[in-house]
Amino acid sequence: MEFGWSADEKAHRQRIRDLLAETLPEDWEARSTHGPGSDFQTDFAMRFCPMLAERGLLVPNWPSAHGGEDAPVWQQFILGEEMWAAGEPRGAQYMNVNWIGPALMKFGSPDQMNRYLPPIREGRAVWCQGFSEPSAGSDLAALRTQAVPVEGGYSVTGAKVWTSYAGRADNCFLLARVPAGGGGPVGKAAIVILLVDMASPGIQVKQIPALIGEGDIHELFFDDVFVPAANRLGAEGQAWDIISYALQNERTGIARYEFSRRMLDRAVERLKAEGRWYDPIVRDRAARALMLCEAARMLVYRVVDAKAHEQPADAYPSVARWAVVQADNGVNDFLLEFLPEGLIGTDPVQVAHHQRAIAAGIASGAAEIQLNAIARRWLALPGEPKPGEQRR
Ligand SMILES: Cc1cc2nc3c(=O)[nH]c(=O)nc-3n(C[C@H](O)[C@H](O)[C@H](O)COP(=O)(O)OP(=O)(O)OC[C@H]3O[C@@H](n4cnc5c(N)ncnc54)[C@H](O)[C@@H]3O)c2cc1C
Repeated sequence: MEFGWSADEKAHRQRIRDLLAETLPEDWEARSTHGPGSDFQTDFAMRFCPMLAERGLLVPNWPSAHGGEDAPVWQQFILGEEMWAAGEPRGAQYMNVNWIGPALMKFGSPDQMNRYLPPIREGRAVWCQGFSEPSAGSDLAALRTQAVPVEGGYSVTGAKVWTSYAGRADNCFLLARVPAGGGGPVGKAAIVILLVDMASPGIQVKQIPALIGEGDIHELFFDDVFVPAANRLGAEGQAWDIISYALQNERTGIARYEFSRRMLDRAVERLKAEGRWYDPIVRDRAARALMLCEAARMLVYRVVDAKAHEQPADAYPSVARWAVVQADNGVNDFLLEFLPEGLIGTDPVQVAHHQRAIAAGIASGAAEIQLNAIARRWLALPGEPKPGEQRR
């Protein structure tokens, strides 16, 4: 693995930094406390992402056949790091460009690619991820939303929960189950992925008041919603492979350690300004938090490197995800220990980081589940999921 950045990569990073400096409003940091799904952030992302797309900075590593620039995976990754360091101004687009678009390119029909990829690569689409249900979070394969085959497609009935961005989404990447019967598939083989138009009759979206900010997470209710067969992604029985592919991309597509690092730097600046930086205990704790951020960075790089070389990433995506959560928590602990006053209202940015760091260990799959995956794959500990009991 090469740890240094090439001149091209450095120039790419600088170009993004310059663009962010020029584009983000002066009060961006203060207003980012609104939450990633808020109208403020979504409205901003819907202006910002088309501008990125016009400059070839939304999907540089996508193949040119799909409107990208065939750039190396690292270019997309540098972009992600800089975006997260700036509080992720792409909003819901980070999800579209990291895993929904790639899943469509790998498993979609020509018609699906023609329909869904252009709005994603132009930064105009909002998607939501309809995976979790009240009784199916970590144990995703236990999902119960039904997709009953009807003439020309499926009738979907069920409920989803914790769905980010659903209030503004055009489409939902939905997991549902074809009911058992007549010798058909059961367990995870009965799961289908449906690309659902959120304007379809029978869908109800209800916002859930959330720790991480207004407008972010929702309940979704489906009542006899018709979804054409042409909107099923992949063949029946193929869904779990697609989900596994998508989740691997999702786990390491979020460079949150950059955001944690920014919060740490910010705290150090403040401690310096208050004359507290020369306390050896403060410096020792800051160094420990920094080590967690850098360890997370290196472990994520290990996964990106495997991807760049088209090698299997093994259990590294789980290790990297765990490390990213540790970095978030390490910085949070540091802030709690040395700047606790920020949490009682004097620093809304710190409060927002604190709240989102708690959620970060749960969103995109609970961190503890990654430990199970590591134990099984590397330590050969017992606990292989039984058929139909696959974990998220
Ligand atoms: C901010 C946020 C945004 C989200 N956005 C979305 C979204 O857009 N779409 C979507 O589908 N979902 C979304 N989620 C849901 C998220 O994916 C789930 O919350 C997550 O997968 C955990 O599922 P659960 O909440 O049902 O908890 P559970 O699975 O019930 O887990 C509860 C606790 O038990 C532990 N646990 C469970 N099983 C095991 C086990 N086998 N071994 C060890 N520990 C275990 C977990 O680690 C966790 O600490 C979001 C969540 C958050 C917080």
